[in-house]
Amino acid sequence: MSYRAKSERAFEAARQFLVGGVNSPVRAYQAVGGVPPVIASGRGCRIQDVDGNEYIDWVGSWGPLIVGHRHPDVVAALRQVIEERGVSFGAPTELETELASRVVEAVPSIERIRFVNSGTEATMSAIRLARGATGRDAILKFEGCYHGHSDGLLVEAGSGAATLGHPNSPGVPEAISALTAVLPYNDLERVREFGEQHGERIAAILVEPVAGNMGLVLPEPGYLEGLRECCDRWGSLLVFDEVMTGFRVARGGAQERWGVRPDLTVLGKIVGGGLPVAAYGGPATLMDQISPAGPIYQAGTLSGNPLGMAAGCATLDLVARPGFYEGLEETGRAFEEGLREAAASNGVPVQVNRAGAMLGLFFSKDPVKDFSRSAATDDAAFRTFFHSMLEQGVYLPPSRFETFFLSSVHGPDDIEATVRAADVAFGRCRAS
Ligand SMILES: *Cc1c(COP(=O)(O)O)cnc(C)c1O
Repeated sequence: MSYRAKSERAFEAARQFLVGGVNSPVRAYQAVGGVPPVIASGRGCRIQDVDGNEYIDWVGSWGPLIVGHRHPDVVAALRQVIEERGVSFGAPTELETELASRVVEAVPSIERIRFVNSGTEATMSAIRLARGATGRDAILKFEGCYHGHSDGLLVEAGSGAATLGHPNSPGVPEAISALTAVLPYNDLERVREFGEQHGERIAAILVEPVAGNMGLVLPEPGYLEGLRECCDRWGSLLVFDEVMTGFRVARGGAQERWGVRPDLTVLGKIVGGGLPVAAYGGPATLMDQISPAGPIYQAGTLSGNPLGMAAGCATLDLVARPGFYEGLEETGRAFEEGLREAAASNGVPVQVNRAGAMLGLFFSKDPVKDFSRSAATDDAAFRTFFHSMLEQGVYLPPSRFETFFLSSVHGPDDIEATVRAADVAFGRCRAS
């Protein structure tokens, strides 16, 4: 009998009622094959499936759980809301101001903020603001960057869309995708050329400042600065989608780490501490064009709900502690070195890209700087590696177009155990 027999039965039951057994496609393991473990619980950096198998978790709910599962401070904050306040009012609460002030303090380009319920919604709303503020309709994005699943942004998107081979989804009207221009990531020359013809039609350049949805791809030196210059020349807004990088690659996100100031910033994942919270923000002059201060409409019944705000506040207080990011960097460095050594000693060519607590592993001899090079990496080797790791109790993102997420509760023992498993898994890759 399979060591995951209960998961297999539970997933079969799920498939009767839920589309593909899941509520978000990547969870169904189509890219790697097999049945996903059905998760029962998590604590710290470990999760357990319904069979009682334990895994070291390098997904962290796809990024939000930078302080691990059920951190006592986050649990206490949530308990206090449930027992003493109430889960939703649809009216102003002080908790919203508390989280907003923490974000504004951490991210210098944000003066004013609006909370929403998902990264998809935040990015979509930021684009509406950029269009309203500039009076222009077109936007420029980059191949393999994922900005949620709204119509205009589901064009050459990475992540699950790339995993499933849907570069452009049915159901997105051509009239809408026609307003989205797409260029390769990390190619500034192409952006400049494009600008000569079309710059004045572009409302916004939207970019993941570190691309985390085509595996992990770092911006080349000067790339983000170059996009800033193009926006200034064209009169377009620079929108950083920091849903993944915000509070992860530095407290102030990629804009702090790379020292480039966007006009608008989109946040999600960590900002809600594991609850459905996202946000967009920027200078007051821009943000005050949003309703009710201005004419550009955007609203939400559950936006700013107390549970999400409380989990966000507790998480942002933890990341603000002295040494938090230094600790993550240390963990990241040890993990990166361990993986490189394990791959090398097995003679398996890999590329390890890393920005702080985000790490990408590619089965490739060549450096990976854009989506086409990510797509050219060895998928079969990734799958072999992935399943070997899972069998050994290491839970990785189930697609080569995703990123490993480190947390503050991964310790030296977790790295050591993971690297030991990787040594075995690389051996399997070599053998097959
Ligand atoms: C996860 C993600 C999104 C989408 O956020 P959801 O909450 O899943 O809608 C958008 N942009 C980036 C960069 C992301 O990583």
